[in-house]
Amino acid sequence: MTETTPPNPRHRLSPLTCDAPGLRQSIRDALVRVVGKDPDLATPRDWLHAVSFAIRERIIERRVVTRRQFADEDVKRVYYLSMEYLIGRMLEANLRNMGILEVTQQALQDLGVDFREIARLEEDAALGNGGLGRLAACILESMATQGYPGYGYGIRYEYGMFQQHIEHFRQVEHPDNWLRFGNPWEFPRPEKTFPVRFYGYVVEHHQPDGETSCNWENGEEVLAMAYDYPTAGYERRNVNNLRLWAAKATRDFDLRYFNEGDYIRAVADKNESETISMVLYPNDATAIGKELRLKQEYFFVSASLQDIIDRHLQLEYPIDELADKAAIQLNDTHPAIAVAECMRLLLDEHRIPWDQAWTITRNLFSYTNHTLMPEALETWPVALMERVLPRHMGIIYRINHEFIEEVRHRFPGEHEFFRRLSIIDEDHGRRVRMAHLAVIGSHRVNGVAALHTSLLKQTLFADFNRVWPERFVNVTNGVTPRLWMIQANPGLTELIESRISSDWKFDLDRLKQFEPYASDDATREAFRAVKRRNKERLAALVHKRTGITIRSDVMYDVQIKRIHEYKRQLLKLLHVIELYQRIRDGEDVLPRVVLFAGKAAPGYQRAKDIIAVINEVADIVNHDPAMGDRLKCVFFPNYEVSSATIIIPAADLSEQISTAGFEASGTGNMKLALNGALTIGTLDGANIEIRDAVGTENIFIFGMTADEISAHRAQGIPPGAHLDSHPRLRSMVEALRDGFFSNGGRHLHAEIARYLLEEDPFFVLADYAAYSDACAQADRMYQDAEAWSEAALLNVARMSHFSIDRTVREYAQNIWNVVPEPVLPPCPEADTNDCGP
Ligand SMILES: *Cc1c(COP(=O)(O)O)cnc(C)c1O
Repeated sequence: MTETTPPNPRHRLSPLTCDAPGLRQSIRDALVRVVGKDPDLATPRDWLHAVSFAIRERIIERRVVTRRQFADEDVKRVYYLSMEYLIGRMLEANLRNMGILEVTQQALQDLGVDFREIARLEEDAALGNGGLGRLAACILESMATQGYPGYGYGIRYEYGMFQQHIEHFRQVEHPDNWLRFGNPWEFPRPEKTFPVRFYGYVVEHHQPDGETSCNWENGEEVLAMAYDYPTAGYERRNVNNLRLWAAKATRDFDLRYFNEGDYIRAVADKNESETISMVLYPNDATAIGKELRLKQEYFFVSASLQDIIDRHLQLEYPIDELADKAAIQLNDTHPAIAVAECMRLLLDEHRIPWDQAWTITRNLFSYTNHTLMPEALETWPVALMERVLPRHMGIIYRINHEFIEEVRHRFPGEHEFFRRLSIIDEDHGRRVRMAHLAVIGSHRVNGVAALHTSLLKQTLFADFNRVWPERFVNVTNGVTPRLWMIQANPGLTELIESRISSDWKFDLDRLKQFEPYASDDATREAFRAVKRRNKERLAALVHKRTGITIRSDVMYDVQIKRIHEYKRQLLKLLHVIELYQRIRDGEDVLPRVVLFAGKAAPGYQRAKDIIAVINEVADIVNHDPAMGDRLKCVFFPNYEVSSATIIIPAADLSEQISTAGFEASGTGNMKLALNGALTIGTLDGANIEIRDAVGTENIFIFGMTADEISAHRAQGIPPGAHLDSHPRLRSMVEALRDGFFSNGGRHLHAEIARYLLEEDPFFVLADYAAYSDACAQADRMYQDAEAWSEAALLNVARMSHFSIDRTVREYAQNIWNVVPEPVLPPCPEADTNDCGP
């Protein structure tokens, strides 16, 4: 066990117990003393806040212990920089990971409060769009669980991901005012406040030694203030920290107007600088070319780097050892300006010479790429960058110059090659390519699944791969089994627990021990009973949210993810239309519920039209008596982490049907397979690795491969030609075109049909026949309940590779070069004051 600094006896805390009587007392105390309510008048939300405050006291004690351990152990720290964290609700996750869920439920029950009832009142912390933000949340949780000294940095958006309502079949966005009732899980740190500058100009000073030093002056300053969110590791005392920055006006915001005597205007204008952290951009996999977005990116990057360097110096490490004591991971290019900001801080603030600063910076950073799609690649006009971040533009020019000199030396005369490699894109009105800055400024660049990494090396970064082949590595994504199995699926967790020893919860590799039970009749039957209960739980929620009644004794076929053309919700919708027509034609069709969920970016009209068409088709299908309960189509509104935890455990069939080559990894595919849904999918992203893990006979793979898609595109076959060989497909698309399913939105249906027939950029029609066959194959297997259950259980038992813990270990070993600290043991049950410092 590690030696930690002995606590100063004067700072000894009063005892906080983790047994039911102690928790009960704390909750009651918090209700009156923190929430300020008379228990007789307390609402369910008051109780939610009271219990959260009671647990907050305990989680922060453990944070203090963990921080001390890291400070005493001379550790190398990992800093994860991400614009997005898709966290979900915190109460249950914190309780479970702290090992006090059941005892807290007991304490509440003693107080006459139902845990389930109050827990669902908590708003999701939805500070992200989809997979990228959820990955960041899973990585933080895993670092805490495994004892890595990991810190998350991001933005404390006042408004997170919008709330999606469906009105007249269409998506309507409502603001996500998630902090409206206050947030018991955050610790404001007004003393951790850093200035962040925008605009202004650069002044050069010529030093006696011949060097020039630069000063960035004038412009506007905004303050970044820290809010800390402790993140508990599973069944450990370790608690790591997520630090989110909020923008505050500087204290002298008022000077100009105060001097003019305009007090009211001075105070009112303060709001403007605070808009920086006001709202999350709701765009998934598309770059946002707005000045405010660039300011958000720089704002949180600058504050985080200042904080990282401050901590380094406070620990009395020399500044030139920064990269020995820290590793910084860039989650996509959103924080890539960090490369230039790190150089600025080292050069201008810490007076480190250029070459040394550049070595430190490169050793410090690594970059995760999340997509190859051109519309997602961030580039900023040079003119905008020069205006908003003039000093950084100068630094970027020099980084680029030295880089091009280096390659000119190694690859003489290849001018076209240099142009392609340059950070500055000269062909589209001079723009800064953030991905190039990130690659040049990092010692490792990773893709998020094997196929994605290999495509990265062949396409987007082919030129860089020639220059630095060793720089590119793969780290396949993963998901945390704590949330996506233990919390989401208590029934399946219990079933596994009853069959194998419980160490699989810490080491998912041990789940392999469950594999033999796939051929055990009793386990299969128990598995079906668990699925059934999970379906009943989902059916109740579907009824509450949509008014639609669904059976719980049929196949649940789900496509839950952001709405995007490349994810091909239209492919699934065509299959719904096929089933509808077959039933109308009197065919015997396997009964099923098809459930869609997902948000469309508010400015992405095609995606919003797809939602409307799904809802209109669903309305016709669900009200047609000819369906006789054999087909129901549900669009589940406002897909978020908390609803995912209800939908995923109920699913039988997991739709992972993106056009091959477009889904970098996917993580929804992993969550679903881990919960015993069979995947129907293309050879895209992590689906390929899932197939390798679960076995080809336990997954339904169909459609063109990434290579075949490229070849098919090159052939230029008109999409409508695919109807010729498929009479059913023709009648389906024509029904859509002619408005058979339209409920007032006739021209919208005609437009979607036209889009498929004439454009179909993601090859929905080209892949349809193969998809329909794969669906039929799945239906046949489903009719054999034993065969299906066996395949589902084999999926569960063979998904261990997709634990986020494996992902984090690969980052730690191959990229960060950090080792985990000895994990602190859980608090002794019902003992006094042993959790605290
Ligand atoms: C996992 C998750 C995603 C990512 O899903 P994909 O199918 O990988 O695109 C998006 N949103 C939420 C709420 C999730 O939990």
